[in-house]
Amino acid sequence: MKKERGILFVLSGPSGVGKGTVNRSLRNQWNELEYSISVTTRQPREGEQDGVDYFYKSRETFEKMIEQNELLEWAEYVGNYYGTPLQYVEHSLQNGKDVLLEIEVQGALQVRKLVPEGVFIFLVPPSLDELRNRIVGRGTETDDLIENRMLVAREELEMMDHYDYVVENDEIQSACERIKAIAKAEHCKKDRIKKQYLRLLEVE
Ligand code: 5GP
Repeated sequence: MKKERGILFVLSGPSGVGKGTVNRSLRNQWNELEYSISVTTRQPREGEQDGVDYFYKSRETFEKMIEQNELLEWAEYVGNYYGTPLQYVEHSLQNGKDVLLEIEVQGALQVRKLVPEGVFIFLVPPSLDELRNRIVGRGTETDDLIENRMLVAREELEMMDHYDYVVENDEIQSACERIKAIAKAEHCKKDRIKKQYLRLLEVE
């Protein structure tokens, strides 16, 4: 009998809110979930590894991937391309595995259109001041870049309406617990369970 399709979870939110940290923390504590590794044209940061944090590609290669429809979604963000490899996501979902994408908002909107049955989670900072602290605290960006990111962040906050859930990132572990709770609840959704019953009854 055909396996039930997995659920696509999309974790998104303003710049500097800690999506990457929450994503990495989830990876360490939640093995049943498949984590899609994005493709990017940005340079690896210290400690990052190709094939673990991202697949690092040239702009030329990335543009070829766009042309050949190899990406589920992609966006240009602060001067670099970021995208989600389509095949890995599709293959995992088909095999009944849940997949988590951690992507910025333009990409999330594209996925919302393509996969409306996905679950869209918006991660927010406890406050904008806190967001500024986090961005400045990172210490790897210039003032201009920080201001640019703040501007993008304000716009992103207005985008909350496109999401199903909002999770405050007050503390990493609490945010992870809420995301896991959302996933559990989604698996108990009547419509999903009903579909499984109907499919079972069709087979008999
Ligand atoms: P960073 O350069 O700090 O790793 O990531 C910058 C932004 O790109 C983050 O908001 C991150 O969520 C987003 N991002 C990472 N991978 C993807 C992707 O595949 N697609 C899109 N649209 N955004 C991504």
